[in-house]
Amino acid sequence: MKNIAILGSTGSIGRQTLEVIDQHKDKFSVVALSARSNAELLVDQARHFRPQYVVITNGNYSYVKQALQPLGIEVLEGADNLLTIASLPQVDIVVTALVGFSGLLPTIEAIKHNKNIALANKETLVVAGEIVTSLAKEHNVKILPVDSEHSAIFQCLMGEDPSWVEKIYLTASGGPFRGMTREQLKNIKKEQALNHPNWSMGSKITIDSATLMNKGLEAIEARWLFDLRPGQIDIIVHPQSIIHSLVQFIDGSIKAQMGLPDMRLPIQLALSYPERIPSSFQRFDFASYPSLTFEKPDTDVFRCLDLALEALNTGGNLPCVLNAANEVAVQAFLDGKIGFLDIAEVVEDTMNKIEFISHPSLEQYLECDRRAREYSQSIIAKKS
Ligand code: NDP
Ligand code: MG
Repeated sequence: MKNIAILGSTGSIGRQTLEVIDQHKDKFSVVALSARSNAELLVDQARHFRPQYVVITNGNYSYVKQALQPLGIEVLEGADNLLTIASLPQVDIVVTALVGFSGLLPTIEAIKHNKNIALANKETLVVAGEIVTSLAKEHNVKILPVDSEHSAIFQCLMGEDPSWVEKIYLTASGGPFRGMTREQLKNIKKEQALNHPNWSMGSKITIDSATLMNKGLEAIEARWLFDLRPGQIDIIVHPQSIIHSLVQFIDGSIKAQMGLPDMRLPIQLALSYPERIPSSFQRFDFASYPSLTFEKPDTDVFRCLDLALEALNTGGNLPCVLNAANEVAVQAFLDGKIGFLDIAEVVEDTMNKIEFISHPSLEQYLECDRRAREYSQSIIAKKS
């Protein structure tokens, strides 16, 4: 039996993690759940899975407490308590399904307490990949990828020596605006950007997928997860989202991992690793996909991808700045304060403004995140 804490259980990844656990109650047990504000769903989940703890960071604490305390569930309030549940002695795996920078400190806390991490929250590695991965090594902790591309790479690397890797290809669907010009993107509405062709996900990652920032964040995530040089990471658009990513080895051989787009598969593998366990997920039918196609991403139109690759190549605190500005800009776009193409502008201006640090400490990352947010807010205030 593996004991699991899910940070962000009410989100897209959190809910799918619980679906997987529900199918394998003999293997996984839920010890703790958390939500930011969705108190009703958190209570429903807790009634069903009976964790020992739930945390609501920013919502109706008294409602959750009244509903769950009589069941013997400890109800905690506030973001600090994400650290409490990430470090419980009885927890084996922490699933990090929070959005954005909020995942960083709980993930670090979990690693310091020797918990394996099922990592969905890619922003943690984007912001402070160097610190997080070296801490994981020090504590002999596994960071198991939930992101489908990284799970694909992880699976392609099973049984291979890391020194045999020449490069990796991350596949990208291209999002809802593939093939469009900048002119066409000028007046994109939030509803159009939230309509992803292949995946149903939380709103932040859906916008990141529409700008292609998501693929840039994933390149940075891959750099740290698989200890690669930036030059070993390539991106290829594959609109069908059947090949989830590929590894090319030093003899020229390429391995790909494929299947229908379904996040429950990488989630299940992250929980069951080093074993594979059966699933009833729909199987791939070759005859339904007579052609799988590939094309280069258009970084002139999708500037966010270019900016993220610049941050990947430069390193230091630049990915942290990029991430902070992007979080602020995506929220501003969702709030109707800026246009779709403004997202890249806000990110670029902020990257040019914040002072470069080559090997920041954790405190410097926190400060850098704060300053980058402040600066991007000020640009947005001028625009709106
Ligand atoms: P959602 O927005 O659907 O869910 C986020 C979860 O975290 C919710 O439980 C939410 O609570 C909680 N939360 C959000 N912000 C905070 C905060 N500041 N403090 C505490 N809790 C918070 O996101 P997704 O599930 O789509 O994504 C989660 C992570 O996984 C992201 O990093 C994303 O990039 C990554 N990912 C997601 C994929 C997907 O298919 N969805 C695929 C690959 C990676 P509440 O519901 O109460 O708001
Ligand atoms: Mg992905």
